[in-house]
Amino acid sequence: MAGVKVNYTYEQLMAEVKQYISNPKDLALIEKAYLYAADKHKHQKRRSGEPYLVHLVQVSYILSTMRVGPKTIVAGLLHDVIEDCGVTKEEFLQDFDEEIYNLVDAVTKIGNIEFKDEKEYLAENHRKIFIAMAKDIRVIIIKLVDRLHNMRTLQHMPPEKQRKIAAETLDVYAPISHRLGISSIKNELEDLSFQYLDRDKYYEIARLVEQRRSERDAHINKMIEDISAMLKELNISFRIFGRSKHLYSIYKKMLTKDKAFGDILDLLAIRIITDTELTCYEILGYIHQKYRPIPGRLKDYIAMPKMNMYQSLHTTIVGDAGNIFEVQIRTEQMDSVAEKGVAAHWRYKEGSKYNPAKEQKEIEEKLTWFKDLITLKDEMGGSDAQGFMDALQVDLFDANVYVMSPKGRVIDLPNGSTPIDFAYRIHTEVGHKTVGAIVNGNLVPLTTVLKTGDVVELRTSKQSPGPSEDWLKIVKTSNARNKIRSFISKKMGEKREPVIEKGQALFRDEIIRRGYDQEYLSGKKLEHLYGMFNYNNAADFYYAIAVKAITISAIMEKIYNRSTPLDNQEVQRLVNKNEKKSVNTKHGISVAGIDSMMISLAGCCQPVYGDEVVGFITKGQGVKVHRVNCVNIAQEKQRLIDVTWDDNQEHLRYPTSLYVESSNRNNILSEIIAIVSAQKANMTFISAQETEDGMSSITRMTVNVTDLKHLNTLMTNLRKIDGVYKVDRMNNG
Ligand code: MN
Repeated sequence: MAGVKVNYTYEQLMAEVKQYISNPKDLALIEKAYLYAADKHKHQKRRSGEPYLVHLVQVSYILSTMRVGPKTIVAGLLHDVIEDCGVTKEEFLQDFDEEIYNLVDAVTKIGNIEFKDEKEYLAENHRKIFIAMAKDIRVIIIKLVDRLHNMRTLQHMPPEKQRKIAAETLDVYAPISHRLGISSIKNELEDLSFQYLDRDKYYEIARLVEQRRSERDAHINKMIEDISAMLKELNISFRIFGRSKHLYSIYKKMLTKDKAFGDILDLLAIRIITDTELTCYEILGYIHQKYRPIPGRLKDYIAMPKMNMYQSLHTTIVGDAGNIFEVQIRTEQMDSVAEKGVAAHWRYKEGSKYNPAKEQKEIEEKLTWFKDLITLKDEMGGSDAQGFMDALQVDLFDANVYVMSPKGRVIDLPNGSTPIDFAYRIHTEVGHKTVGAIVNGNLVPLTTVLKTGDVVELRTSKQSPGPSEDWLKIVKTSNARNKIRSFISKKMGEKREPVIEKGQALFRDEIIRRGYDQEYLSGKKLEHLYGMFNYNNAADFYYAIAVKAITISAIMEKIYNRSTPLDNQEVQRLVNKNEKKSVNTKHGISVAGIDSMMISLAGCCQPVYGDEVVGFITKGQGVKVHRVNCVNIAQEKQRLIDVTWDDNQEHLRYPTSLYVESSNRNNILSEIIAIVSAQKANMTFISAQETEDGMSSITRMTVNVTDLKHLNTLMTNLRKIDGVYKVDRMNNG
């Protein structure tokens, strides 16, 4: 609950630190920072009357619970010495190194961001600049924790200041912790802010929650008992507990869904933690078997993680007495990411050399991976949230520049951008009519490269003939480049038809040359394709191809990514390792004159008993058995050899991968899982993702079947699911 009294001392800080840091040098450094801060701040007191040092120790304590590295703890202790004690860089560097100085300096600068006018985009600007200035994730975490502690002790501030700080926290700090997935900090910041921004509402909800507590606890405990008994019987390892929603999230649900307190569904909430992803789905299946799920409430954030890396299964079920429960199912690792977000990936490991650049890179890869995987709109903030996540990624990991219009609007541009990029970002017409630029009060050439903090004013003229070819060489952003190209091609507009035809021919030839699916040449698939490049019709798309506004290779890449189900590595992962071992010596297949040890099933087409198959004599790996129509052997003639299935197959299982295309409706994944389990096809892998247009969902899975007949029955049943329009075996050619 908000307003908790916490009072961590230096002893408690060190006790926490010693749980994961043992290097005497690091411990000595932390002690030195503590003594340094104690000395520098010795005459300062907080509004509460406590010595200022208390704040620093407590910030560092919270940081240590997040298992940050020693330098981050040191920076936490020293984060106010530049600002409050006037310590200069030279002075600082006599005692501590440059890396720590940079952390403290960045924390200080972020603290000093001030905006003059209260425009509606203020909060967004603030968040952007905050992140742009931080650069290093450690700075953001220190700043978030600093704010968390200040919010915990906000009662000592005058009311006016309380509201201002609480509003800023809600607008800037809570969303940033959300973006980074640090829900423990986000939730506390939100509840604390809420308490100061709308005291009446806060206490009303707190009272309502409290009133129903014993009744609620009884329901939850009963449900926990029932589910525990069921899972124990099934020999599934798990942890289960009830959880309470934080007050602000209840309040927000009441507001956005216009509901009374009593109607908020997920007040009764249960979380189940288990060991593997597959067990999560298994548990979900059993729970849905036992309790009625509420339609439309199943969310599979495991297959489709949120932007901030959050993964979990969510479902809502009706319990025995008609009570409604929200159930979350996830692994330990997912739970840790859910609570600590990026910080969970950042855990300081002693002995491993801490390298900020390397760590940053790892997170970058993680975020990129997640970004590629999903196009989910975030439930909290719609498309703005998505935009912010994109911005966050660029801000944190690319060297971006932030420039301002004279009115204080912040525009982010890639490094190397010029005033023309800026102009096109403001408005297309502004771009076309720009004739000059004034940066920080000086007239500059349009080729000038902009830096963060530049204030850019544009000179436009109605008489301007518009952009010329030369500008294409000056601009950095694809946005500006596309607009200049389209302006130029429109000016030359008269001969559009032949250009369109040329583009169409280029496109068609390339599809055929690469042997891609010719369905992309017309109809739905073509529509999807040009939609992905933001074109509304085929003519504009072909035109863009002809004038090279989009490159043919970019288009081909999109098709390739959409139509290639899995890469080899993934297929390797698909094959259940144990399964592979036990079957390895005998696959139920014979080749005249060849030892069965030397025969194995090809991973690419994954034949099952009953498939028409052929052997391929590999170099040094014996005979690989492929399905006869496998593309990998299509060109082979000489090295093929006849193989035959043995008759007695009963004990064998064949792993094979399926590809399911379906509408993107909510429960479809659980229905697919239910069919597979009803068919006893022992699933060993599943992954689902939305298509780029968000209309469909592609599910890939590996099942283990006894033979072709079993597989066909399974596929037929999958096709019967409402909304499934394609079920295929995968042949990773
Ligand atoms: Mn502070």
